[in-house]
Amino acid sequence: MSETELNAMQQAVLEALGKEPDWVPIPREVIEGIRVQLHDGLADIAPRLTPENALWVSKHKLTTVHGCEANHLAGLTGFEWTLGNVKGTVLHKAVELGFNWRGVIVPADVVDEALAQLADDERQSAGPFIDNLPAGDRAQLRSSAIDLYTKFDECFPPLKAAWRPVLESSARYEMFDQRINLSTRADLTLGAVGSKVIIDLKSGRVQPNHREELRFYALVEAMRTGAAPRRLASYSLVTARADVEDVTEGVLQAAVRKTVDGVRKMVELQRDGREPVIRSGLFCSWCPLLDSCAEGTKFIARRDDPDATDDF
Ligand code: SF4
Repeated sequence: MSETELNAMQQAVLEALGKEPDWVPIPREVIEGIRVQLHDGLADIAPRLTPENALWVSKHKLTTVHGCEANHLAGLTGFEWTLGNVKGTVLHKAVELGFNWRGVIVPADVVDEALAQLADDERQSAGPFIDNLPAGDRAQLRSSAIDLYTKFDECFPPLKAAWRPVLESSARYEMFDQRINLSTRADLTLGAVGSKVIIDLKSGRVQPNHREELRFYALVEAMRTGAAPRRLASYSLVTARADVEDVTEGVLQAAVRKTVDGVRKMVELQRDGREPVIRSGLFCSWCPLLDSCAEGTKFIARRDDPDATDDF
């Protein structure tokens, strides 16, 4: 397909992610200054950790610790697959298969292959969950995944090999002899080191915290490679809109502050036993503590009925 044949949504993605002719990368000395800030900010905490009992930091943990600390602690005790969270995994697999698909892409065929491969793959933790789904739930998952993959196929221009697309790209930055480990898994990256675009695909609307999550990805990429990515984008498949941010020194500094602050909170909560601060928000809807949390229940009631009072 030539660029003149792209539909309006695909053209918009191309324009949102493309490199401006006057773009210049962040100088290496700036990246090294950011590294010093990050290490200095955590230097007093690191000796309290060990490589065997290390702290693992992900975007999800940072988001929850800056959101509701009780939710953060609840999320540490175990992760469970649900129809809601596994559909993203199926989408990513379908995108990966679609990139290498021979012939005309029929979304249902690609999704069926993605489901079959995931269900057969015991190394994938989603595999047994998908394999053991009752027929009705599997049909529901298939339907949701076809919807998402169809949207991706409609919204994104065909990924050219020259753009170096990588799906589910894992990255890690180990600090203080593996006592603190920052890890990421980007939905999609395009471009080479030093001018990468990191893209998070969202099945719902883009939320304010998505920008902060991608800034953490930019920080890990910059610390791991010594070169910052060029641009960050949260792409909502439901609205066909991208929230795009260029990576600047200010973006990396904001990410350092958020990361250092978040790590310190994690140590206080997980290692020192500090009482968690409860803060309601959009994340209450998915919180495992919702049924027993008065704060979260009130928030959901107010959200669903803005005229409601707190008197029950
Ligand atoms: S329901 Fe909301 S306020 Fe309550 S613990 Fe969970 S996230 Fe926090």
